[in-house]
Parts: sequence; structure tokens; C-alpha cells
Amino acid sequence: MPDTILVANAGSSSIKFQLFNIVGAASGGTGSLDLDLKGQVEGIGSHPRLIARNARGEVVADESFTAADVPDAQAALRQLGSWLRARHGGAFPVAVGHRVVHGGPTYDTHVAIDDDVLAKLEDLAPLAPLHQPNNLLPIRAIRVAQPDVLQVACFDTAFHRGHPEVADRYAIPEALYRDGVRRYGFHGLSYEYIAHTLPALAPEIADGRLVVAHLGSGASMCAIRSGRSLDSTMGFTALDGLPMGTRPGQLDAGVILHLLTSMGMTADAIQHLLYHDCGLKGLSGISNDVRDLLGSDDPRAGLALDYFVYRSSLAIGSLAAALEGLDALVFTAGIGENAPAIRARICRKARWLGIELDEAANAAVPAAGARLISIRASRVKVYVIPTDEERMIAHHTLEILGRQRRR
Ligand code: ADP
Repeated sequence: MPDTILVANAGSSSIKFQLFNIVGAASGGTGSLDLDLKGQVEGIGSHPRLIARNARGEVVADESFTAADVPDAQAALRQLGSWLRARHGGAFPVAVGHRVVHGGPTYDTHVAIDDDVLAKLEDLAPLAPLHQPNNLLPIRAIRVAQPDVLQVACFDTAFHRGHPEVADRYAIPEALYRDGVRRYGFHGLSYEYIAHTLPALAPEIADGRLVVAHLGSGASMCAIRSGRSLDSTMGFTALDGLPMGTRPGQLDAGVILHLLTSMGMTADAIQHLLYHDCGLKGLSGISNDVRDLLGSDDPRAGLALDYFVYRSSLAIGSLAAALEGLDALVFTAGIGENAPAIRARICRKARWLGIELDEAANAAVPAAGARLISIRASRVKVYVIPTDEERMIAHHTLEILGRQRRR
């Protein structure tokens, strides 16, 4: 059996995973990655379900559990671990790569995890309360169960750490910046994946000035020039920028002061509000899911989508200003890949930048496929490119594994 790399992307109610075979490493090189399995444990604590597919997309596991059997992420990890071991005759992956949302000011690259790294990442949990504690859970569990296995932390912030200083700063005193109050930016693994795929998928724009729109339940945009991130709509935490499923996006800091002082809300209540009850859900009062809002004729659903489209179009303009021009716009993630109506509305509002959508191509993007959706004459090319953060994590994990093996 070939060596494998496991990738874990652990969230609050799901653990996404991919397993890759390392092929061609016998000749002394690092080898390359062949997808073996892709799946998730979803509905943790409510309707837990383990579902996995092989590289051909065929379902190889579909098991449901009671909420009592899988009440939390620890239990979900145990189920996933025993299923993976049974499938692979007891063999454990040679390395595990993890998505870790926040790398703080320290990590501008992905790293092998030791006690010191883990302690630093735990300190950053308050900056990503929705994600970081979940991201670190499987790391701790595997360190106990398999202490010798290489574990790698891949950060959503790392791709953005080369931002010019003006994009990394808030207009606050220097001491706060030194304390780490900076505009980090997130979704970096997704942007890095898109930047990596462009030379093969769309070579004419790979070196250009791009805005990549990662529109999922978390949403942000990134200005990329010659493959490097210049700025992002997200900042110190993953709350800033575009409105999201349950997060508000850009919000005057005075609103927080008002909630604290005039309305007497506690910090915990405000945190809950900002991470769970705002965004599309808060505006519509109906749902955080764009599919539900598109299917509703309630005017509040319409307002939530109008706001999402409006803010997205403002962000494209602002990032085009950071790039001093625009050669291409790339849509990715759940909404970006699957919601042609939203893409069309955003593109219409950004026509002034030279974006001309091919409506037929936009309506016919294949599931999980990449496609050019602007007309030939469009000055700015528009693409839909499916993201694959887990493959990017596997790529970095393999690199670090290769370096360790060559030592
Ligand atoms: P995450 O990985 O952050 O959970 P995704 O990138 O998978 O998020 O995006 C999930 C969101 O994408 C859903 O909440 C939904 O709003 C949107 N979405 C997924 N499929 C569709 C679709 N066919 N049409 C419209 N929106 C969709």
C-alpha cells in the first residue's frame, strides 16, 4: 500500500477530510498526490453522518449516527479514525495536514507542529473563536494517539502575510500593531490554490491583476498580482469585509461600543451575535443559505441578497483600486461556484470596470468545473474555478514531509 497523507479541515459542526496516496516517491523525489478519498463527518451533535467518496466520486461510506453517539467533534474524530483504519488495514497516514484559520503575526508559512507551535496557536483562539478551537482539536487528539506522526498546520492567514504595509495596518497606535492588531486576511489556502491552478487553467491571466471572490458561508475577496496577495477584504478576524451567512462583514466599530455601553450587552453576547446571528441570516430573518433566499419571495430575502450583491460589487471596485487596474475576476466557493444568478448580478454592477458577462456560459457552468464566463471582447476576463483548500494543504504537507525525509 502506498504512504498516505490525511488532510483535516475541522469546523464547528463538520470535519471535512481528504486522503491522498503519495505516488512516485520511491525514486527519491517528494512524489505526487493522488486523491484516494474525500468526505466529511457532518451534523455533529445533531444528525451526525459520515460520508466518503473515492476519486471517481462513488460513495464508499454513508453511515448515520445518533446525536448521543456523536455528540461532539472528539466523538466524530473517533468514528472517522476507526473507519479510516478499518479501510486501510490499520495503517496510519505518514503525515496529517490541518487547516488552521489563524497563524497570527508569527507564521507567514505553513509549519510542522510541535508543542511550541501548538501553544502559540492556542493563544490565537480568541481571534477566531468560531474556527481555531475546532481546528486544533484533531491536532491534539492525533498527538496523543500517534505522537510520532508528522502534523502540519496550514494557515488561512499565511498567503496574505506579504501584504504591503498600508494593507497590513489599521490607523491605530503603533503599540497595538506590535501587539498583533493587524489586517491578516483569511481564506488564504483557497486563494493560494486558485493562484496555483491559473498557469494551467487560465495562463493568460495568471500573471495579471486579479480579484478572486471566495463566496461561501464565509466570504471574502482577495487582490492578487502575479500570483501574490496584495490585499483582502478580511482583516484582524474573519468578521470583516463582505456580509456572510451569519457574520455581518464590515461594521463601524462604534456599533460594538454602542452595544456594550448603551445596550448593556456582554462581550460574550456580542461575540455570539457577530458570529452566529448577523449576515444573510440576520438581514433576512429567514436563512443563512443563499439557496433558501433565492427560493423565497419574502422581501427580506430579497434585501439580504441585494445587500450581498451590493457589498460584493463595492469590494471589487476597492480591490481593483488596490491593484490599480483589473485583468480578471474569479468566482469560487459554494456561492461563487454554484449560484449563477448571484454571479450575474455582481458582474452587472461591476460592468463599469470592463466586465462583460457571457450570460449563456454563466448559466451553464458544469458542477465542479472551471469555466470562462465573460464574452470574448470583455476587457476583464471572468472565470469560475472550483477551490480545493484540502489539496493545497496536502501539497504543503508533502513538501514539509519531503524536507524532513531529506534531512
Ligand atoms: P463553507 O466551506 O464555508 O461551509 P461553502 O463554500 O461550501 O462554505 O459554501 C456554502 C454556501 O454556499 C451555502 O451556505 C450556500 O449559501 C451556498 N450554496 C451552495 N450551493 C449553492 C447553490 N446551488 N446555489 C446557491 N448557493 C449555494
